[in-house]
Amino acid sequence: MRVSVLEVKDLWVKYYTFSGIVSAVSGVSFNLRKGEMLAVVGESGSGKSTLGLALLNMVPKPGKIVKGEVLLGGVNVLKLTPEEIRKIRGSRLSMVFQDPFTTLDPLRKIVDQFEEFLLEHGFDKSKSRSIVKEYLEAVGLPERIMYSYPHQLSGGQKQRVSIAMAIALNPEVIIADEPTTALDVVVQKQIMDLIDYIKGKYGSSIILITHDLALALERADTVMVMYGGYIMEYADKKELLNNMKHPYTKALFEALPRITTRILPKSLPGYPPDLRSPPQGCIFHPRCEYATEECRLKRPVMIEVGKGHFVACHLYR
Ligand code: ATP
Ligand code: SF4
Repeated sequence: MRVSVLEVKDLWVKYYTFSGIVSAVSGVSFNLRKGEMLAVVGESGSGKSTLGLALLNMVPKPGKIVKGEVLLGGVNVLKLTPEEIRKIRGSRLSMVFQDPFTTLDPLRKIVDQFEEFLLEHGFDKSKSRSIVKEYLEAVGLPERIMYSYPHQLSGGQKQRVSIAMAIALNPEVIIADEPTTALDVVVQKQIMDLIDYIKGKYGSSIILITHDLALALERADTVMVMYGGYIMEYADKKELLNNMKHPYTKALFEALPRITTRILPKSLPGYPPDLRSPPQGCIFHPRCEYATEECRLKRPVMIEVGKGHFVACHLYR
């Protein structure tokens, strides 16, 4: 059995806004094993990005982690001092964002910002330039890119630079938040191939945050479906494909375009909940065709319906 590198226990995150308290992540627990790619899937607003930021203790104000543990090698990341957390960001836990401009400074050459990042993490100045070159090569970028400014690069090249920085310190866990959403389909595939390659070469564990269930089913080992801040279903990819249980997961699946059949995609009616005043009972009940009185009143708990396959739905007991 592969060891867990990251254990998330009963994590709750809220945003304290002027218009109300947003419950963005509610009671999320999961384990990430060494070399595993876990896809976190859900519609916009389901809490995926907030979860990713919470794992690095980087939830911005007015957000707050109100409860839970994030154990990296047994140490609770949420209890570390700012100095301690700064050290592990990048070196043990790193993040690739949807928009590479989030991480790249537009006014500085790639080499300068990459080197600064390495020096901050204790690398020797005499070796840093060759490390920059090595990691840019590892993600398929030529040496000349080092001396470019971010605006001189294409979207795919910028994302490759972000990935090179994310892997340079060989972190145990890489969180990739919609890393391909801003890119065209050809470059999307190249970046996902690169992430697969990194997983294989460096043995990193990856959390892939995406709204795209098809991408998750194609690339990930394990899939966690979120809705309204809660986990709806969690399973090994093959198990999920063969034995999908939760009405929300099924709705996401039915909404996927099919190339090989004549079945038309079916869109899920309604809208995600307002997380300032989420519905009582099962948070998905206003959009669920199977909802009963019990669903409207009582929140379902997560139960194991098969080995490592968890579902939160009253249809399964
Ligand atoms: P998307 O795919 O659109 O990024 P998501 O699944 O990643 O969505 P989050 O961005 O984590 O979801 O948002 C979860 C909830 O938290 C939403 O209701 C969102 O409006 C709210 N939220 C996120 N960031 C903030 C913030 N900085 N201030 C207030 N509310 C926020
Ligand atoms: Fe639908 Fe009820 Fe299951 Fe929620 S608990 S997904 S409302 S059947």
